[in-house]
Amino acid sequence: MSKKQALQAFNQELHISHSQIFTYLNCSLKWAFQHYMGLPIERLSIALPFGSAIHAAIELYYRSLKNRGQAEPLKAICDRFETCLELDLDNTTVPIIYKKNTPDKESAIEMGKAMLKAFYDSVNLDGIEIVDVELPLSATLFTDDGKATDFKLVGILDLVLRDENGEIIVVDNKTAARPMAQSTADDDNQMTTYSYLLAANKYVFPTAPVNCRFDILRKLKTPKLEQVSTIRTAEQRRRFAKIANAVLAGIDAGIFMPQPSWMCGDCAYSDACKAW
Ligand code: SF4
Repeated sequence: MSKKQALQAFNQELHISHSQIFTYLNCSLKWAFQHYMGLPIERLSIALPFGSAIHAAIELYYRSLKNRGQAEPLKAICDRFETCLELDLDNTTVPIIYKKNTPDKESAIEMGKAMLKAFYDSVNLDGIEIVDVELPLSATLFTDDGKATDFKLVGILDLVLRDENGEIIVVDNKTAARPMAQSTADDDNQMTTYSYLLAANKYVFPTAPVNCRFDILRKLKTPKLEQVSTIRTAEQRRRFAKIANAVLAGIDAGIFMPQPSWMCGDCAYSDACKAW
């Protein structure tokens, strides 16, 4: 596969997502194993299917509210979670890496259901309109001096809301054991990607700041929902586009190297990395 093919979508458009940018910035070699060389994964951290299953359950909650004006009962949300997780785990042929707080499949299911109950009991949409759920957007990536590149920035936004003042709020649903620091929320590139996509697709005025919120379901003995708000300005979007272009230049130049960090513990390519 060529480096360009690694960045082509089904419709043959060159594209890059926040997830690819995140992976490249944290370990360019991992990006190459996954997207350029297309290596099969060697192991799977439970955090990935667990997070996807929670996402699918929360998506069901918001979609039913948006489409029918009524939320699914908690049991239906929990059933969606359990089905998604079981399907993912049953279809995996590689070893699963379980965690201290979810040491096996049963405890992961129990934890997920307790987290969804905390979500269900705490979520508050008073005065809020659901604009869209799992909204796929794309936008041309521009260079720092305002020239259009051949690349699209793509992303799927978990949730877009409108508050009682008519302001858009973009929400990213996360699961985490630890609380999110305000500085982490303020620096997170995923929200900047969302903000770039919303501004480029006219959900907000091109130079307007975008209200962003992380809804974090904490993996605790007694799970809870925490919300951390932040904003993204047009200047942050400009800087992010510069980062995205630098990542594309690194990929084009074939700059791939290991970057050991705490993320290595969960890396799906650690054998390939050792052999590199
Ligand atoms: S084991 Fe660590 S350094 Fe090696 S590819 Fe994975 S994340 Fe990168």
